[in-house]
Amino acid sequence: MASKLVAPHGGKGLVCALLSGAERDAELEKAKGMKQVEISDRAKGDLIMMGIGGFSPLTGFMTKADWKGVCENFQMADGTFWPVPITLDVDKSEGISVGDDIALVKDGEVFATMNVTEAFEMTEDDKKWECEKVFMGEGEESVDGNFWKIAPDDHPGVIMVMNQKDMNIAGPVKVLSEGEYPAEYPGVYLTPAQTRAMFDERGWANVAALQLRNPMHRSHEYLAKIAVEVCDGVLIHSLIGNLKPGDIPAPVRVKAIDILIENYFVKENVINSGYPLDMRYAGPREGLLHATFRQNYGVNNMLIGRDHAGVGDFYGLFEAQEIFDRIPETGDDAKDLLCKPMKIDWTFYCSECDGMASLRTCPHDKESRVILSGTKLRKALSEGAEIVDHFGRDEVLDHLKEYYASLTEKVEVKMQNAASGDSM
Ligand SMILES: [Zn+2]
Repeated sequence: MASKLVAPHGGKGLVCALLSGAERDAELEKAKGMKQVEISDRAKGDLIMMGIGGFSPLTGFMTKADWKGVCENFQMADGTFWPVPITLDVDKSEGISVGDDIALVKDGEVFATMNVTEAFEMTEDDKKWECEKVFMGEGEESVDGNFWKIAPDDHPGVIMVMNQKDMNIAGPVKVLSEGEYPAEYPGVYLTPAQTRAMFDERGWANVAALQLRNPMHRSHEYLAKIAVEVCDGVLIHSLIGNLKPGDIPAPVRVKAIDILIENYFVKENVINSGYPLDMRYAGPREGLLHATFRQNYGVNNMLIGRDHAGVGDFYGLFEAQEIFDRIPETGDDAKDLLCKPMKIDWTFYCSECDGMASLRTCPHDKESRVILSGTKLRKALSEGAEIVDHFGRDEVLDHLKEYYASLTEKVEVKMQNAASGDSM
């Protein structure tokens, strides 16, 4: 039976650079004779996504023309939509030239080989330009000329880009490893081909995804259930790549989701899975990236709530929803983003409504509402504070409390305006 799912992004099917079997063995052998280039964690995640088709239609790291087009207008040189630069930085002093075949290595493991087709310099000004295009938002820390006063110290995405080396290299890759993910997350780490097969098997056509990097609290549960009501099913998709210090490790979060599904969902309508990327801290643009790679996983509705992928106070609370209205559309399905946002207003528990509600449904005042946020939950848990009623489900909170009790060092969680509910 033909699949009813949305086509992968870029009109070329799933583009997977991962080699296996004898082909992989032969390439690993060849890689031994190549220049070994150490890569970042971020690049490792990008490579795995290129390997499994999560970044279709990308076949490698971006050229200067792609980088420029993506920063400027969300489009690669051929007009295909893409929201954030996927680039690979190296030191000029490494002496990599066009035409070279190089091995990309992380912690002693060869993750990929790459045929270098282009090398372009990245000056401080280029990096600054990229940051302004990609990271500068409409929140209070971005406007009024404050961005460059605060971002170099406080914006992890900006810090990452400004610390990049002085040259980017582009070219097609052959991916040789999926890292620790298949072994560490069996049944949770799924490739786009695997999620598509699962959706097809269940006869799903309209699939929503819930992006997660924090444990699920009641708002997340509510968002997922809104999606279940109007779509065929929901993919609860957690980041299992690197987070920042103080975040809850992926295995703890994944287990917490399992506990929630077990007790509070109809299992047939939900799939719990993870993806191997690091956070890029790109705020609204990251929301677009979430939708772009979800399309490859077979998802056509991306849940975007309040402060999606927020970074401190750099972005407006609904900027990640609004940006979907500003991206270019060519009218060509092979080039445009087909995964659409499912925009949900600020949600909370309301004692007057006697249930979950949003600013669109609840007429009561702030005092009746329990403001839910992942940051707030982590802060309370890390301080051993009492968790307010209706913040999360008891079964889930017990599991999280167990994790915090096992920590030997206390983690400090910084609160931002968005998480405190002051701006409601
Ligand atoms: Zn209410």
